[in-house]
Amino acid sequence: MPIFVFVHGNNQIIFRFMKLEKYSFGIGDRFAQQGEAQLSAIMKAAEKGVEIVPVWNKSNREHQNIHSSPSDTRKEADDAVRKLGWEHSYYVDADHINLDTVDRFLPHSDFFTLDVAGYLGKEVPAEELNRFLDAAEGMTGRLQIPGISEPFQISVDILKRIAGTFLGAVKEASAIYRHIASGKGAEQFVAEISMDEVEEPQTPVELFFILMMISHFDIPVQTIAPKFTGRFNKGVDYVGDVVQFRKEFEQDLLVIDHAVKSFGLPENLKLSVHSGSDKFTIYPIMGELIRKHDKGIHVKTAGTTWLEEVIGLALSGDDALQMAKTIYARALERREELCAPYATVIDIDPDTLPAPDEVNGWNGEKFAGTLRHVPDHPHYNPGFRQLIHVGYKVAADMGEQYLSMVRKYRRVVGDQVETNLFDRHIRRLFGI
Ligand SMILES: [Zn+2]
Repeated sequence: MPIFVFVHGNNQIIFRFMKLEKYSFGIGDRFAQQGEAQLSAIMKAAEKGVEIVPVWNKSNREHQNIHSSPSDTRKEADDAVRKLGWEHSYYVDADHINLDTVDRFLPHSDFFTLDVAGYLGKEVPAEELNRFLDAAEGMTGRLQIPGISEPFQISVDILKRIAGTFLGAVKEASAIYRHIASGKGAEQFVAEISMDEVEEPQTPVELFFILMMISHFDIPVQTIAPKFTGRFNKGVDYVGDVVQFRKEFEQDLLVIDHAVKSFGLPENLKLSVHSGSDKFTIYPIMGELIRKHDKGIHVKTAGTTWLEEVIGLALSGDDALQMAKTIYARALERREELCAPYATVIDIDPDTLPAPDEVNGWNGEKFAGTLRHVPDHPHYNPGFRQLIHVGYKVAADMGEQYLSMVRKYRRVVGDQVETNLFDRHIRRLFGI
């Protein structure tokens, strides 16, 4: 992994850290069985001339639900890389961690997503607030970002409002960053800051000042995950104003460019899109804009790999199809419990969910077509898909019984995983 030296402003502080490559893909894999299938998709992209580095991401919440540990993710990544002879960089992301949850990831991760969404609006001592406001004072008036035609009007009141919302959160990110740096060494990891798991999107102007705060607190962040406009529901397509998304996404790219130059942030700083997977409508838009402006991107996919496992089981027939049906029936029974933690990122109309008796009569193709995210397929049912998406706890409770079934049918399952990641995600984003 390349390491580079970063000289920060007048402070003459030299950071050395891993430099994340231009294109990176966060691959989620609930049960840590599909490392090779996912890496194969990344390698297929390389054959087509698009160099992407894989980042195996898993959050603390997910580890708790599955009863897995960060060392499992590390092992999955290392094993896949060794078996397939991958010679480029790869990372293991401690996704959405904070000071309370980060410690057990320290030995195993080299990418940390510092989640400070819970700290938005947190107060900071008046003298710290004033120190930032003094530093930002020169930004008041007309703020012209190169490439954005209309200048932004920045008043002291706007600065105070933005600082009131974000300064405490960025200060918290600094505390988490320093904790990891002291535990691992600052040169041993990539840092991302995420604020995506909130209701209100952050505007490009807010992003600009958030980046100023990040520089103010000397955090050498390489990816930033704002909340974009629209809904990023888990495992289904984008819901929102596509025209507005395009405008904001392009402005965010230009804002980052300007912030890097203005505040001395790492030159490879890029957007991280916590996609929740399957944002088919906006993948081509993001792809077009990053190519237009020659920018990098990090895209995190959620645990839809698990859905491909269920599809693979259904297509395998016999005992595997039976297990897929059992998973659905149990998920339906536990619907309210399973959906509750994901209330803000799923939309299931219960009336669209088929009865287990009906599903029991289905063949593998019908089950797979209902679950697979091909929006114009006559069998596709987004409610069914989202329910199984949040139903991974059912499989986690099956434990070894589930895992051995996935291993038994690894060929069919792996094909689904690879095809999904390459054909439906990578190709749409990178236009290949
Ligand atoms: Zn996220």
